[in-house]
Amino acid sequence: FIAVEDLKKNYYTGKSKTEVLKGVSLGLEKGQTGVILGPSGSGKSTLMNIIGGVDLADSGSICVDGLELAALNDDQLTDYRRDSVGFIFQFYNLVPNLTVMENIEVVSNISKAPLDMNEVLKAVGLETKKKKFPRELSGGEQQRVAIARAIVKNPKLLLCDEPTGALDYETSRSVLSLLQKINRDLGTTILMITHNAAIGEMANVVYKVRSGEIVETIRNEETTAAERIEW
Ligand code: ATP
Ligand code: MG
Repeated sequence: FIAVEDLKKNYYTGKSKTEVLKGVSLGLEKGQTGVILGPSGSGKSTLMNIIGGVDLADSGSICVDGLELAALNDDQLTDYRRDSVGFIFQFYNLVPNLTVMENIEVVSNISKAPLDMNEVLKAVGLETKKKKFPRELSGGEQQRVAIARAIVKNPKLLLCDEPTGALDYETSRSVLSLLQKINRDLGTTILMITHNAAIGEMANVVYKVRSGEIVETIRNEETTAAERIEW
C-alpha cells in the first residue's frame, strides 16, 4: 500500500549540505499500522512530509495506493494530499477562534463524501463539546479534535507526527486507543512518528531511524488486533 524506495533528501544552507534522508526504503500494507521510531533530528518528520506530499524528495520513489507521487503534477499532488491523506501533529494545530465543529469542518472542501460529522464527534468522544473553543478543552480533547478533522474525510492514510508528544501518559493511551479504533473500524492505514519505544508495541511494523537511515525493522505480525487494543 505504501512502498518507499531509496528515498534521499538533502538540505543546503549556504555551502553546507545536510543529508537528512540517506536512502530510506520502507513498506506498509493496507490497513496496517507502522511506527517510525527515532531520536530528534533523525529525519522522521522530513520522511513523513514527503510521504504526505507536502515536501519533495531529491531522489527515490514513493508509491501510495498505486499512485507514484513523483509522477504527479502539482494539481494531482494537491488532490492526493486533500483526498487521501490525514495529518495529525504534536501540537494539534487547531484554529483558536473556531469551535470544535468549525475546526473539523475546515477540511470539508473535499471531492468525496465525508463521514457523518455526528458519528465522528461521537467516535472521538466530543459530542458534548462541539460548540467549545480549543482554549476550553484539555490537551487530549484538543488532539481528539485534530484527529476528527483528519478522519472526517475518511483518508486512506493517516500520518501522525508525535501525536502524543504533548500529552501525559493516561491521555496518550486514550488517544492511541482512539487511533487503533479508527484503524480497526475504518481500515485506515496509519503511519506514526514517535520517539517513545513503548508505542511501537501497537504497530504491525516498527522502523527504527538513525540519522536518515533505517537501522532496524521490527515486525509484530504475531500480535493480533485484539491484543493490540489492550496497549
Ligand atoms: P524531531 O524528533 O526533533 O521532530 P525529526 O526526526 O523529525 O526530529 P526532521 O525534522 O526530519 O527530524 O529534521 C531532520 C534534519 O533535517 C535536522 O537536522 C534538521 O535540522 C534538518 N532540517 C529539517 N528541515 C530543514 C530545512 N527546511 N532546512 C534545513 N534543514 C532542515
Ligand atoms: Mg519531527
